[in-house]
Amino acid sequence: SGARVRRAQNKRLPQYLERGVDVKFSDVAGLGKIRLELEEIVKFFTHGEMYRRRGVRIPGGILLCGPPGVGKTLLAKAVAGEAGVNFFSISASQFVEIYVGVGASRVRALYQEAKENAPSVVFIDELDAVGRERGLIKGSGGQERDATLNQLLVCLDGFEGRGNVITIASTNRPDILDPALVRPGRFDRKIFIPKPGLIGRMEILQVHARKKPMAEDVDYMAVASMTDGMVGAELANIVEVAAINMIRDGRTEITTDDLLQAAQIEERGMLDRKERSPETWKQVAINEAAMAVVAVNFPDLRNIEFVTIAPRAGRELGYVRMKMDHIKFTEGMLSRQSLLDHITVQLAPRAADELWFGEGQLSTIWSETADNARSAARMFVLGGLSEKHHGLSNFWVADRINVRIHRYCFCSYLEKEIDSEALRIVNICYERAKVILQQNRKLMDAVVNELVEKKSLTKQEFFGLVELHGSLQPMPPSI
Ligand code: ADP
Repeated sequence: SGARVRRAQNKRLPQYLERGVDVKFSDVAGLGKIRLELEEIVKFFTHGEMYRRRGVRIPGGILLCGPPGVGKTLLAKAVAGEAGVNFFSISASQFVEIYVGVGASRVRALYQEAKENAPSVVFIDELDAVGRERGLIKGSGGQERDATLNQLLVCLDGFEGRGNVITIASTNRPDILDPALVRPGRFDRKIFIPKPGLIGRMEILQVHARKKPMAEDVDYMAVASMTDGMVGAELANIVEVAAINMIRDGRTEITTDDLLQAAQIEERGMLDRKERSPETWKQVAINEAAMAVVAVNFPDLRNIEFVTIAPRAGRELGYVRMKMDHIKFTEGMLSRQSLLDHITVQLAPRAADELWFGEGQLSTIWSETADNARSAARMFVLGGLSEKHHGLSNFWVADRINVRIHRYCFCSYLEKEIDSEALRIVNICYERAKVILQQNRKLMDAVVNELVEKKSLTKQEFFGLVELHGSLQPMPPSI
């Protein structure tokens, strides 16, 4: 590939060529079977003749779909790297110009270069910036974009079936692309790249750790399980921040703890030396301790990684890290009982406030978790999980990714019914949280005292206290 790249450089200076792209599939982790699909694309370059002889149409374009940071760009580079071909890249937002004709001429220049330096991969980032359905934007801006898109279509068609210039584009919105773009011969192959799961995250961390001085005994699994919901870009960042941490401390090896701390920074911001009055420390400690103490009673939520009241740049006061199955939660696959348990945990701060400070002087420290409880209770009713309201769910569609509820045709009568049923569930769970807290006063006091003193409790420290003072009694409520 080096020779090919050099030859390309001698001719004239191509603007869009990325030099020294040396990415291999082994640099991309956590993709499972998706990798096989991309290996096939490499074969279109390396075994193009064989495909053509057998009458297989080589796709003109491949669309990598997925959220930002999952490695779409990295994968496109790896395809070029593995095939040993040139890599041309542009972000579609660079196509979109105010002056009519500029975008279109950039597209032409890009493909001209790619052709002169073939075989090559053309990578278009954020295709949706230019590929939105035509005619949707009025005025000259829209006209310009349409002209650019038309030019792109012409260029894509020019390479159909040849297999020496393959276009790879990335988008997070395949649904809004102009239908002409996804017609056969153009971007007719879509590959979806989801956020990595537990094992995927571990593998991504390991790939980035390869070039770093890691301690022998680093527990990648522990870090992976603390980073649910994160994408490759964030995981790569964690390894970088951990390395900085090590250097700052004058050490020579990165430890599990460096990685865990970096994960916290990635998730919640830097530690912040905020001043708090002794009363505030205590109140925040009660808030967080209550969640942890209630959660430890429930099988799906008891996997507590740590409890902290150390202030961070983010806006929460404290934090209980529960190792919940993130996918299960965001995809709405929690069981009926787990959802009730979750609601109960979210109500624990409010219950603790009442028990420790009395109705008369309730604070608002718990308002966010109480909101979580309310919306989870509505989800419970809407999902048809409450026996009283099976049929209601037919009127709703749950947006599973955002755990948000969209309303369709709906009348206020049902709205009221749902709210009153949700309130009933919230009340039952609230009472349950109070009972658990009362049963565990000793444990609460111990956790609160330790938190005020040390600001953070590790998993071992927390479960040590549970062992000593806890009186765990799972009692499923009757709903
Ligand atoms: P996208 O194009 O999907 O927004 P990128 O490919 O630009 O994401 O990812 C940014 C960086 O994050 C990469 O350069 C790489 O360091 C890291 N990264 C993302 N996904 C992965 C992965 N699956 N394996 C290894 N590193 C990854």
